Amino acid sequence: MFEFKNTADFASLLDDADPLKSFADEFYFPIMDGKKVIYFTGNSLGLQPKITQDYVVSELEDWATFGVEGHFHGRNPWYSYQEILTDQLATLLGALPVEVVAMNSLTTNLHLLMVSFYRPTATRNKIICEYDAFPSDLYAVQSQAEFHGFNSDETVVMLKARTGEFLLRTEDIISAIEKEGSSLATVMLGAVNYYTGQYLDLKKIAEAAHKVGATVGFNLAHATGNVMMKLHDWDVDFACFCSYKYLNAGPGGVSGIFIHEKFADDKTIPRFAGWWGNDPDTRFTIPRKFVPARGARSWQLSNAPVLPMAALKASLDIFEDAGFDELRAKSVKLTAYLQFVLEQVNMEHKAATGKDALKIISPTIAEERGCQISIIINENGKEVHRKLTESGVIVDWREPDVIRAAPVPLYNSFKDVFEFGQHLLNALN
Ligand SMILES: *Cc1c(COP(=O)(O)O)cnc(C)c1O
Repeated sequence: MFEFKNTADFASLLDDADPLKSFADEFYFPIMDGKKVIYFTGNSLGLQPKITQDYVVSELEDWATFGVEGHFHGRNPWYSYQEILTDQLATLLGALPVEVVAMNSLTTNLHLLMVSFYRPTATRNKIICEYDAFPSDLYAVQSQAEFHGFNSDETVVMLKARTGEFLLRTEDIISAIEKEGSSLATVMLGAVNYYTGQYLDLKKIAEAAHKVGATVGFNLAHATGNVMMKLHDWDVDFACFCSYKYLNAGPGGVSGIFIHEKFADDKTIPRFAGWWGNDPDTRFTIPRKFVPARGARSWQLSNAPVLPMAALKASLDIFEDAGFDELRAKSVKLTAYLQFVLEQVNMEHKAATGKDALKIISPTIAEERGCQISIIINENGKEVHRKLTESGVIVDWREPDVIRAAPVPLYNSFKDVFEFGQHLLNALN
């Protein structure tokens, strides 16, 4: 698809042609030995936008100026602060505004969603998830099964890649769903796997789950702000995401949920309720009986954590400025370039030593991945990672032998990718 060269000049040409290249200046990069690091860990913690401090300080100022009156008289009144995030989040998810709300933290939200959408019976109680799911997701679904009185070893079905393979095949996911059939209550998978970077076929999975009468939800921690989604059109029932990875909202940033519009007026769905989920017009009225607001908002428990939400708003404004279609187009090219550079590094290493240095385990086509590429380092991986860090490259290490590199289109450049390749080649020797 693309014609690439593994040279500094070629990388500069690609940067010159990049319409989004100036956005890197809007972020703070960690400095090592007086130089900006090559930061490829936006999949763990996105960099801080320079405008974030202003957004947060402005809420601190309103608090100083107005005290409690800031709920109604602040520049962005806190009483409805969560609402200013909704449209931009909905755009990133391919959702309607009524389907989205920012609230709580990610694992908390996963539990709240499972309470509503995992409602097992004596015969229909299985949960499908992936074997190499993020640990917190597994603990959440296992404890949900046990909360309902089931043995999670029997109830939680973990999908594994075929022997010798690293990625799940869509056909295998579908046949697992069909095999569980009427015993399957819920499918809960990571949309983009945190370890391999694989982007699952959400639409086909949702179809298959519904066909056997199960509910279907996804953890979008590694998908939001990274890949294009159409959660509404794909008929996904529920989803949750975090904002501190690709959304650059800062450590522990506020999470959010998606609940399909078809449930927006369904008051029969059981949920753990709080005052913020009540219809705002009757929040304080008597009789004291919970009246859910319309849509995802009714899953809110508490009043909005304004300071972390202000940090998220800063980042969402940058996403809107850049345009998500443009960002994704750059991301596809940037990650294709990373794949090319990694293959070149491997070839050069092999020419010198006769041995393969690395193996790419992420999908190699754009439709099946986001920006991240995970590689197995064949020998002395930990040492290679240490040398990379010393040379000013921040990538992430996963036991036993995997390096994850995520060039982020908002602030990474083609030159970053080229230089990463040079540092990796040095570190391998
Ligand atoms: C990052 C991540 C988490 C982290 O959960 P928190 O509740 O935010 O600490 C959970 N699940 C997945 C899939 C993740 O990628």
